[in-house]
Amino acid sequence: MRIVRTTRELREARRGLIGLVPTMGAFHQGHLDLMRRAREESDQVVVSLFFNPTQFGKNEDFDKYPRDIDRDAEMARSVGVDVLFAPPVEEVYPNMPTTTVSVPEVTDRWEGASRPGHFEGVATVVSKLFNMVTPDVAYFGQKDLQQCRVIQRMTCDLNFPLKIQICPTTREPDGLAMSSRNVYLSAEERSAAPVLFRELKRCSEILPQSGTNVSAELGRSRDALATAGFSVDYFEWVRLDDLAPVDQRTEGTAMITAAKLGRTRLIDNVLL
Ligand code: AMP
Repeated sequence: MRIVRTTRELREARRGLIGLVPTMGAFHQGHLDLMRRAREESDQVVVSLFFNPTQFGKNEDFDKYPRDIDRDAEMARSVGVDVLFAPPVEEVYPNMPTTTVSVPEVTDRWEGASRPGHFEGVATVVSKLFNMVTPDVAYFGQKDLQQCRVIQRMTCDLNFPLKIQICPTTREPDGLAMSSRNVYLSAEERSAAPVLFRELKRCSEILPQSGTNVSAELGRSRDALATAGFSVDYFEWVRLDDLAPVDQRTEGTAMITAAKLGRTRLIDNVLL
């Protein structure tokens, strides 16, 4: 596996059908599953490891987010990644403030409302990575469902000539979605954390049944989360296409949530 820092080196290393996995490092099995999927489907797997400053708000965890490039490189190597693209900030952002990419509608709610500027930072850096790496396929995790919708919309609107592949969420045995942020959880918080997925699943099974009182069931889940120690940001049943709330069964919906456990903000979702 080669580690490259510049777009120029990357261009020289490239060959065949390229699968890109964009990441911010601190790898776990969820990241490795995306890399394995890219390995199966591409001639060359490029993993970008870039800690993107523009997608973090002022009071978020930019400074304490876990970073260990040697460990990440070893993990990427172990699943057959060809190129680890780890550019310095100046390579990605030659000018600050930068030209930005702003995606309408799908950014209005949920993470977009709770984290102002976050999706503009994500869309901007991902469009930069698409231009730098020029992949044929780019792999993203369903765990960040709204982010997937933002990237899909941006790719379509800006005519990026590549395919977006969404991959299932990798979970711990107790159901907790893997996340680089799980390391912040205390032992007590970690044991409460699986309640989030349990309530998503409960609602995903019960809400579509006829005769269910949807708002009462959503309320029950929010209460269960509060009892387990969560401070719930949102816990909703939404349409997949525009992420607007629904209150009855239709094609293509998801349960989505964001909730804080102590100082750690967890997000998760389940498709129906
Ligand atoms: P991050 O480094 O956290 O920005 O994530 C990089 C990519 O990994 C994104 O496409 C995420 O959606 C994806 N990802 C994060 N956690 C998981 C997970 N538990 N299962 C599958 N993909 C994930």
